[in-house]
Amino acid sequence: MIKKPNVIEKWQKRNKYGRPGTPLSATKIAIHYTGKPDVDGDKTVSYFNNVVANGYKIGNRYIFASSHYVIGLGGEIYQLIPTNEICYATNSANSYAIAIEVATTGSDNHYTDLTYKSMVHLCAWLCSYKNLDCKKDIITHTDVVGKKYKLCPIYMVKNPDKMQQFKIDCDNLKQGKITVNDIINCTSPNYNKKINDNAKFDSDNSTSSKNQGSGEQNTDIPKMIKIIHDVNYHKTPDFKNSSIAGIALCGEVFTVSQLIKRNGTDMYKLKSGYYITTHAKYVEKYK
Ligand SMILES: [Zn+2]
Repeated sequence: MIKKPNVIEKWQKRNKYGRPGTPLSATKIAIHYTGKPDVDGDKTVSYFNNVVANGYKIGNRYIFASSHYVIGLGGEIYQLIPTNEICYATNSANSYAIAIEVATTGSDNHYTDLTYKSMVHLCAWLCSYKNLDCKKDIITHTDVVGKKYKLCPIYMVKNPDKMQQFKIDCDNLKQGKITVNDIINCTSPNYNKKINDNAKFDSDNSTSSKNQGSGEQNTDIPKMIKIIHDVNYHKTPDFKNSSIAGIALCGEVFTVSQLIKRNGTDMYKLKSGYYITTHAKYVEKYK
C-alpha cells in the first residue's frame, strides 16, 4: 500500500462558515485552485482558518468557504478538515467530495514540480485509503458546476490532456508502478520540449562501437540516477528527435528499472517507462 504523504495539520475550529461538522462519506476527490497564481499554501490556510472561519463579509454576504487540504508551491500539504466531515468548496458535490486547493504558478496557473508531486501523492493515497478509482473519482470543480459557472482549476480545465495524464500518474503511483521520485510534472513548461543535447554520440545506423569500453558510459546498473546536465528523455529506447518526451533537468532523480544495451550509447529504462542516456556527462549513479 502506498505510503501516506507528509501532512501538516492545521485543524480548523468548528464553525458554520467552513467546518459545520456534517459527516462525509467521500466518493470523489475534487481539485481546485485559489483563483490567482503564486499564492502560497500558508496564505490560503490562513484565509480559511483565520478570516473566513471567523465570519467574513463581502458586501452584505458572509463567505462560506473551506477545503480539506491545501497544497503549497513547495509541495507542502496542509490538512484543515478531517475527511469524514464535509467542507465548503465544491458546491453540490460538498456532500460527497474531498476538496484539495492547490497553489499554481505562472500566468497559465500550472504547477511547480514539487506541487505536482504532492498533488499526485496525496490523491493516489486518498484513493487508496478511501477505496476510490484514480481514473474515475478524481474530478475538477468544473466537472461539478460546468464551465459557464467556473473554470477550476483553470489549467486542468483548459488542458484536459494534462488532467488525463495527472489521473494516470495517480493511478500508476497507487498501483506501485512508479515511485514519488518518478513522477514527472506534465504541467511544467519544460514538458514535451526538446533541448539540443549531445546525449547520443553514436548514430542509430552506425555499426561502429567506438564509445564502448571508453569508460564514458556508466556500465553498472544503478538503482537511481541523478541528472547532472539537462538532457532529453525518450518514449522509445533510441535518440531520435521524434521519440523525445521531455527534458530531465539537472538535479532530478529517477528510478532505473533496466539497462538497455544498444549499438552505441546504452540507455536506462526508467521506472516511469521513459528512456534516458547512460552517458556520464548527463547522469550519475545516485543509489
Ligand atoms: Zn474550485
